[in-house]
Amino acid sequence: MATDHHDLDSCDTAVDANFDYMYKVLIVGNSGSGKTAFLVRYCDDCFSPSFVATVGIDFKVKSLFRQDKRIKLQIWDTAGQERYRTITTAYYRGAMGFILLFDLTNEESFLAVKGWSSTIKDMSWENAQVVLVGNKSDLTESRVITKEQGMELAQSLGIEYFEASAKEDINVKQTFETLVDLISEKMAESIEKNPNFVPRGSRPRQADTKEVQTSGCAC
Ligand code: GDP
Ligand code: MG
Repeated sequence: MATDHHDLDSCDTAVDANFDYMYKVLIVGNSGSGKTAFLVRYCDDCFSPSFVATVGIDFKVKSLFRQDKRIKLQIWDTAGQERYRTITTAYYRGAMGFILLFDLTNEESFLAVKGWSSTIKDMSWENAQVVLVGNKSDLTESRVITKEQGMELAQSLGIEYFEASAKEDINVKQTFETLVDLISEKMAESIEKNPNFVPRGSRPRQADTKEVQTSGCAC
């Protein structure tokens, strides 16, 4: 699958067994909301003001420590355009968590959240965790969605809400860490219920592995 314009050199995809868990996470939301910027801010700690639409799907890997566990996050960046829906929905199935992103300065992206949420519910593993993010909080002058509206929507969907800025590095890390903690809690619950439980996202399906190899990731 093709990749976007971002420098992928720093993405760490080397074979590495030094982790306790691997969680697969997807970032979804309308095109232009800042999904790629959000991912690049978290993984590479940089921001580019240019907008080049992501084609298809791409991913980065980030390791983090939470509660004494080394967690390897495989974060998939999807393209929001409708014409890529058929590709991206196939990836929903193996994901353990979703970051559902909208643009605080774009009402359409906010109104689309319910649709994205239903797609997640329809397509993903039943225990997948979701957090809602209103991105571009740095654009205070042009924001059209209030904090209350965001919180209300998140509450109606039964999920957590963050206002973030990939540009100013506000709440990006916190969003990912919260999602990781939610996934860990869910996993602990599932293991308690069924000791033979193997989380779906922790072992990439063969098809995903193939996709990874052909993704054009330069690392
Ligand atoms: P995607 O289509 O959802 O992947 O969106 P992009 O990550 O490509 O971002 C779309 C545009 O919004 C780009 O021009 C980004 O530079 C800009 N952008 C993304 N996040 C922010 C942010 O937090 N603040 C501001 N001011 N601009 C942002
Ligand atoms: Mg993108």
